[in-house]
Order: sequence, then C-alpha cells, then structure tokens
Amino acid sequence: MQPSKHNILSQVAGSERWLLVNLLSGQADLLDAVTAAKFIRGEAAPEFAAKGYLVDPVEEAARYAAAKAKFAEDQKDDEVQLFFVPSYACNFGCSYCFQDEYAPQQTHDPDAVIDAFFSYVEDTFVGRKKYVTLFGGEPLLDTPKNRKVVQKLIDGTKVRGLDLAIVTNGYSLASFVPLLKTGRIREVQVTLDGARAMHDQRRSLKGGGKTFDPVVAGIDAALDAGLTVNLRAVLDKENLTDFGNLAHFAIDKGWTERPNFKTQVGRNYELHHCQTNNTRLYTRLSLWEDLYRLIESDPEILRFYRPAYSISRFLFDEGRLPEPLFDSCPATKTEWAFDATGAIYPCTANVGKAGEELGTFYPTRSLQQAVVDDWSGRDVTTIEACSSCSQQLACGGGCGAVSKSWKGTIRGSDCRPVKELMGLGCALYGQREL
Ligand code: SF4
Ligand code: SF4
Repeated sequence: MQPSKHNILSQVAGSERWLLVNLLSGQADLLDAVTAAKFIRGEAAPEFAAKGYLVDPVEEAARYAAAKAKFAEDQKDDEVQLFFVPSYACNFGCSYCFQDEYAPQQTHDPDAVIDAFFSYVEDTFVGRKKYVTLFGGEPLLDTPKNRKVVQKLIDGTKVRGLDLAIVTNGYSLASFVPLLKTGRIREVQVTLDGARAMHDQRRSLKGGGKTFDPVVAGIDAALDAGLTVNLRAVLDKENLTDFGNLAHFAIDKGWTERPNFKTQVGRNYELHHCQTNNTRLYTRLSLWEDLYRLIESDPEILRFYRPAYSISRFLFDEGRLPEPLFDSCPATKTEWAFDATGAIYPCTANVGKAGEELGTFYPTRSLQQAVVDDWSGRDVTTIEACSSCSQQLACGGGCGAVSKSWKGTIRGSDCRPVKELMGLGCALYGQREL
C-alpha cells in the first residue's frame, strides 16, 4: 500500500485542522493536527486505506481508467453551449475590455448568416442537447437593424425548441424585455462592477456617460417579467473593496430574495490583452484571498454571492464530493462560438481573434479537423504537467486559451491553486461534520 496519487491535503485557513480529500475514491475528512501530521509522515493507519487514501497502485490505476471512461461517456450527453456573435459593435468603453483590439468587420447579410448558423447547428449537433447564447460586442443595441437580428434569433431558437441565453451590458435591456418575453430565454447575464460610482467609473458609455441606472432599470424590468437574471461582477484590485456595496445594493433591492436572480464573479485577467493598468489584476489566488477577507468582515455578502473555493462549497453544501474533473475546458466539446463573418471558433475566449478560427459555416462550410482534435483531446491525461499532479481531478487542467496565450500550446497546464482555495472554502463553509 502507498499514498494515493490523488490525495489533496490542505490546512483550513486560520485553523489547526486539515481537510483531506480524494476525488477518485470520493472521500473527504477533516483531520486534527495530530492525525494530519501522522498522515504527512506517511504513518499508515487502517482508516486511511479503507477510504482510498492508501492504495494498491495497480488497483488505483484501474479505478482511474474506469473513472476517465465514465467522464468521457458522460461528456457525450452534456449540453452544448453555442455562442453566436451577430456583431462586435458595443456602446460601452469599459476600461478593461479585450475585444477592442480584434473586432472583425461584418460583411454578410445578417439574415443569410443567421439562417446558415441554424442550419449548421441542426446538421452538426443533431442528437445533442444544446442551447444558443447571444454574445457580442453588445447584442442588445437599441437600433431597428439590431432588433430585427434579436427577433430572428428568438424566433429561430423557439421554432427549434432551443433555449436562448443572452450576455448583455444591460444598458438597453429594459426596452428589450417585451421582445425577450416572447422567446425561450434561459437567462440574461448582465454586468455590474460595483455600486453606482464604481460601476460608472469602470463601465461608461463610449465617449463617457453613466450606465449604472439604466442597467439597474433593465435588471428590475427583466426580473419583474420573470426572466432569469445572472448578475456578473468583473473584479480586480480597483473594485474589490466595493463588492460589499454592490452586494448590499442587491440585497436592499430585494433581488437576492427572487428565485430568478443569481450571481457570478469573473476575474479581470490578462488573456489576449496588454491591460492599460496591469498592476490592478489579481492572480488566481489573491482575488479569492481578498474576497475571503472581505466576506469575513461582512458575512452578509454571502447572501449575494457564495464563492466556490474549488470543491469546498459543493462539498459542504451537498455533503459529498463532485465527480472527478478530468477536463475543465469545454472548448469544442461542449462549447463552440460562431460570428457574423461566418467563422467558427473554439469558445468565447477566442471568438473574433484572427488566427483562432476553426473553420466557417458561411458562405461555405469548412473545418480544420486537426485543430479541432487538438482542442477536443485536451484533458489532464494529455497535458504532461497534469498527469502527475495530485490536484488534477479538482483542477481539470485549466483553460486551453490561457495556456496557448502564455505557453504557445493548447496542451499546457493552467494551474488552479486548489489546495489554498480548499483551505479558504473549508474555513468559510466547513461548519458541519463530514
Ligand atoms: S479555452 Fe478557456 S475560456 Fe475557452 S472554453 Fe476552454 S476554459 Fe473556457
Ligand atoms: S493545470 Fe496545474 S494544478 Fe491543474 S491539474 Fe494541471 S498541473 Fe495540476
């Protein structure tokens, strides 16, 4: 017997206790300091073997192969998210936007492109569960031409029994709500980067102009109409301290009590763009450390947003571990992106970026199958650094686009600080016994 390759042991933040998990055996335990020290010294105890923390390596390799095969099989049934970008035009001039550096011009008739998109989706993803996400630029620009595009996408998804999600800056959302109510709208994702002053500073109209109040009016209108709103905040060192103000604003508005309201946080990051002010960016760990400290000082924030802290929130909410994650990058597996030039991309992170096209769906169809295979073969078993990493089944290998951007290859690691995040999450949520 020897220690499993998949043990993850992390000290609970601010505590003498340790969290030991093994995603392959599905076991998690909170250890006191003495037991953790014994475990670290490699002292065998019968309970460690019974729970799959000590293993016969041959037997563990067989369980690993079986779990990988199950993951691949399950992935075939996962729903595919199909992003569609009708235009890269946007009315906002956000201080951190990455799309301004590569915005391909649209040259085709929008009706013909949308028809071709639906026809491609029907042919290519036949038999797969799927939904469409309208993305930009800003897809809800309030112009007659754009309203026709949105109407056509609403009608096209509805007639095919597909849901439509929308990612919008929210500025004209209120005026689109009557139209959206006629569709199968899964959710509307809207961004607020803080309370009024902070949001307006970061997310102004192009050329200046405040946007907070119109976005809030759009969220109110959407919630009142029964549409699901997914409120996103993009955080960096400039606005993290204002996150509590945003949380209290949402709580005071009564949004957090609505069943059709949810939230998410995005880390402002380096992908594809030399940020005008790079020093304000957080690392993958420092964002969640600072957010942890903010929540400690103001726990009401958890009514607005509950960070995942790797597998911790899931573990303590559900009382069990998630399934092993052999792959965290959905590109070309359960995510694709399409734009109005007729191009196909692996995902939203590279949509519109010259050189990242996988092929075309209009005016003719083409696909670089070798590049698609490179993307779709990416998982922790095909990334060299990941295959020997003890955190692999919690991390999944990270993002292929980030890897390509920093290492020049899709098949590189993009590490998550799993141990440290688990330590923070366990301190935040680990009030119950495992
Ligand atoms: S490349 Fe990165 S952004 Fe794109 S699907 Fe993969 S993980 Fe997501
Ligand atoms: S990306 Fe890094 S942390 Fe994640 S599995 Fe690979 S080597 Fe481990």
